[in-house]
Amino acid sequence: MTSHYFRPKELSEALDLLAAAPLCVAAGCTDLFPATERKSLQGDVLDITGIAQLRGFSHDAGGDLRIGATTTWADIIRSPLPPAFDGLKRAAREVGARQIQNQGTLAGNLCNASPAADGVPPLLTLDAQVEVQSAGGTRQIALSDFIQGPRKTALGAGEMVTTVIVPPAGQSGIGHFRKLGARDYLVISIAMTAARMVVTDGIVQDIALAIGSCGPTAVRLRAIEADMTGRPLDPSLITDEAVAKAIAPIDDMRADAGYRRISAAELLRRTVADLSASQVVAA
Ligand SMILES: Cc1cc2nc3c(=O)[nH]c(=O)nc-3n(C[C@H](O)[C@H](O)[C@H](O)COP(=O)(O)OP(=O)(O)OC[C@H]3O[C@@H](n4cnc5c(N)ncnc54)[C@H](O)[C@@H]3O)c2cc1C
Repeated sequence: MTSHYFRPKELSEALDLLAAAPLCVAAGCTDLFPATERKSLQGDVLDITGIAQLRGFSHDAGGDLRIGATTTWADIIRSPLPPAFDGLKRAAREVGARQIQNQGTLAGNLCNASPAADGVPPLLTLDAQVEVQSAGGTRQIALSDFIQGPRKTALGAGEMVTTVIVPPAGQSGIGHFRKLGARDYLVISIAMTAARMVVTDGIVQDIALAIGSCGPTAVRLRAIEADMTGRPLDPSLITDEAVAKAIAPIDDMRADAGYRRISAAELLRRTVADLSASQVVAA
């Protein structure tokens, strides 16, 4: 049984409640409910979905794009975002079915810290930061440092995620995402890949590549990115060997590690090849 259920309308009230006692933060509950395996959440719950300021998109004076913590996958799909966010949008369209997309939030996906969280690879390619607040203050953490392992984040006592931030550099270029599962829809990823790139006159000016579901956390592929920058766009530079060095897949019920290594490299090549065929990269 839930002991106390709080649904504040103001962020300051939520932070005061979190400072006063340990509470389970609840957003869309699409991860929380399956985890309980019961009909109600256990313990004291802080439902953050009534805080209007936490939902939606805004730009700050420095050009950062700010995505509020209760912004849902459906919000992301419907919003006019720059082409760099095309990978995130594509991931959003493939998270569960419509019901999950209407209910589940981007920040919930990050805080749940599943190695198979589809939002993480595209956000890594956008150089996303996570803004965390408590009654005592605010801090920003690179997404790559925020997720520390399966079900483990950098959140401290009394803290919650309030915003996902994409800096101006991460907003340039065009993005893409591909997911491999045992079937096309409603599936947990065996591997997923994301790419964002800026290509001018056929030459790669900037490229960000990420792989998820192939290790305890999703990772950027910095060595391959460095190899591809300043050269004509060529997906064959993404070799099986270079990908295998960057990831640490395990055997599980969905696939074995060897299959994951090979399929992740191929999926990443296809992700980049899709982008190289697109009009925006060719322009
Ligand atoms: C049928 C089904 C299909 C699914 N398919 C996919 C899929 O294809 N891909 C995928 O990646 N995921 C999938 N999921 C998982 C889930 O829908 C997503 O991870 C979703 O984004 C979670 O968001 P939420 O708002 O529901 O999080 P919640 O369930 O509300 O919370 C998840 C965790 O994050 C914490 N939390 C939430 N918000 C905050 C915050 N602002 N600050 C601090 N802590 C917070 C909660 O305490 C909890 O620990 C699926 C789930 C279901 C039930």
